[in-house]
Amino acid sequence: MQKKPQRPERGRALLYSRDSGGKHDMTPTKYVEWAQREANSRGLKFTGTPKEIKRMVQDRKPCTGDLYFDYCVSGDLLSRPALDACRDEIRRDGNISHLLIPRRDRLARPGDALDGVRLEKELRLLGITLVFMHMTLGPLKRGQRQDVGEAVAGYVDYHKSGEFLDDLAEKMVYAHIELTSGGFSSGGRPPFGFDRFLVGNDGAIIRPLEKGEVVRRHGHHVAWLPSSESDIKLLGRILSMLEHMPASQVAKILTAEGIPSPGSELIRSDHGVLHQVSGVWHQTTITGLARNPFITHAMKTYGRRSMGNHRRMTPEGPRALEEEEFVTDTKTKVVTNPINNVVSAAGAAGVKPIISAEAAERLQNTLDQRAGTQRGKPRSRDPSRNPLGSRIYDLNCTWPMYRVPYSKSFRYTCGLYQQSHGQKCSHNHVDGPTATKLALAAVRQRLLAPAVRQQIEAKIRSALNDRRPAKNLDTELSRLRSELKQAEAQRTKAIRNLALADTPELFQEIKSVAEEFAARITRLQHEITAISSQASMVETTQDVVEESLRLVDQLPNLANDSEDFGKVAELFRTIDLQMFVRFHAVQKAKRVENKQCGGLITWGDAPAPIEKYTGPTSRLAVQVKVSENEKGPKRNTLSEPESNPDSGRKAESLGNVNRDDRI
Ligand SMILES: [Zn+2]
Repeated sequence: MQKKPQRPERGRALLYSRDSGGKHDMTPTKYVEWAQREANSRGLKFTGTPKEIKRMVQDRKPCTGDLYFDYCVSGDLLSRPALDACRDEIRRDGNISHLLIPRRDRLARPGDALDGVRLEKELRLLGITLVFMHMTLGPLKRGQRQDVGEAVAGYVDYHKSGEFLDDLAEKMVYAHIELTSGGFSSGGRPPFGFDRFLVGNDGAIIRPLEKGEVVRRHGHHVAWLPSSESDIKLLGRILSMLEHMPASQVAKILTAEGIPSPGSELIRSDHGVLHQVSGVWHQTTITGLARNPFITHAMKTYGRRSMGNHRRMTPEGPRALEEEEFVTDTKTKVVTNPINNVVSAAGAAGVKPIISAEAAERLQNTLDQRAGTQRGKPRSRDPSRNPLGSRIYDLNCTWPMYRVPYSKSFRYTCGLYQQSHGQKCSHNHVDGPTATKLALAAVRQRLLAPAVRQQIEAKIRSALNDRRPAKNLDTELSRLRSELKQAEAQRTKAIRNLALADTPELFQEIKSVAEEFAARITRLQHEITAISSQASMVETTQDVVEESLRLVDQLPNLANDSEDFGKVAELFRTIDLQMFVRFHAVQKAKRVENKQCGGLITWGDAPAPIEKYTGPTSRLAVQVKVSENEKGPKRNTLSEPESNPDSGRKAESLGNVNRDDRI
């Protein structure tokens, strides 16, 4: 076992705190002032200053020097950036003797009080003295029994702070229920067609609210009211269209008409990528609107979905979480509540339903019937579960192969086989992990060999040299600049002389000289702009080349771990790997089995050996095609990839829902 360094009695001190985001919190500056006093009186080394923490808070940095600060992290998350960094620093620097923490609830507010006690114990076992505002806890020796009274006091302290969260959660649930039963908004963004308005207790409208405006006025609430007549008309039209056509078609019509979709001006983040919401209507947007009880029934509801770690709601009030709502000890599930378990009330301030109650009921039934299939439902996009996703093709039929779960692992199976229920292609499949490892082995052998690395580097370098201009741009630029300066000086001089000209002839002569200089100045300025933009372009190419070299150097790291399919997937994506597999039928004792009998792996811009199928992939589209070619070969279309009527109009939407290419 590793021997722990003996820590000095009075060494370096660190300050750790967590910002709860609460209003009654002491400011971080005050914490540092307290820490400075504490360190001084105990003779500890502590470098933190109020100025430093101010800068840290501004830059949202979790740690600088002796200061460790977590922002807006809920106290029951026991792993936080600053806390983790602080623990690492304590392990690294044997001279740290004290950890200053303003209060126990600044260290942890755990759901389970024992976790807080454990965290303290862990730090004290490292030889650290914990200094709180109201008490000090000395280091513990391994095997030494902790004072029972002290342990119990700690447990009670953390239990209390944990209870505080439960109390808060209960209060929130009650507040939501009360507001909702009054038909008022209990927070959140109103649906399309409605805006937030300030209303009195009696439902009298006072004024519309700005986006994000918060109102805390006694006897006043927020209600959702129609934003404009045209929006309400549009909603009515959408709902009536839905009665006789699917949501996807409604979406297409609205997009084609150029009607801006809800939230067109918003920036949203999908899978961590920020993008502006387009003006395109989606099927999910349409069904979302038609499923919203506020739009169809003018009903305000609360508790359709339950989340949170402390209390959950029922129409009667908050309840503790059920056993099955925990994913792990600290992670909880989001649960969709049955409709009779939801608080609902007619909307405040006289909001009227857009369609009649019967029409709304009918619409919900229609939507339920249409929602019978899996289509359009999003799947997880975890690349580690699908490393060859959209990179593996069946050479027999040119279709992509889709991931299918198979006995604790997964397979890639021909997409055409799946979508035509076995009518158009055979049960061609490969084991997922095996195919992934094969592709990885090929990459290792061919692409990552040292000789290849050198070739790539040489190629990139020569590309860089080709783009470097023959003349040195910097010299050229400085020559032009000095010429410009001269011309400007001469023009000023000429203008000054103009005033001194005593005959009209002389005046004209000097004027033309000045004009000549002016023209020259303009020409020089143009030249300078052109050359400096050229120079900056050279810099960019250089950046691009360096970036690609860095990428090349990273590849071996990505290929190192054949078990980490997430990394492998990233590698495949980086080099744009594609795999093509050919199958043939093998007669077994009782049945015909389709075995892979060859294939090809490509990467980079190497051309695919086949024209890949890019047509529609929906079951319906495939079935139509099946009936069209009823007489064509049905099984084992070994050598003739089917002619593809859809290739060549790739630009058009195929109506394929992006579901991470799995079906
Ligand atoms: Zn196939």
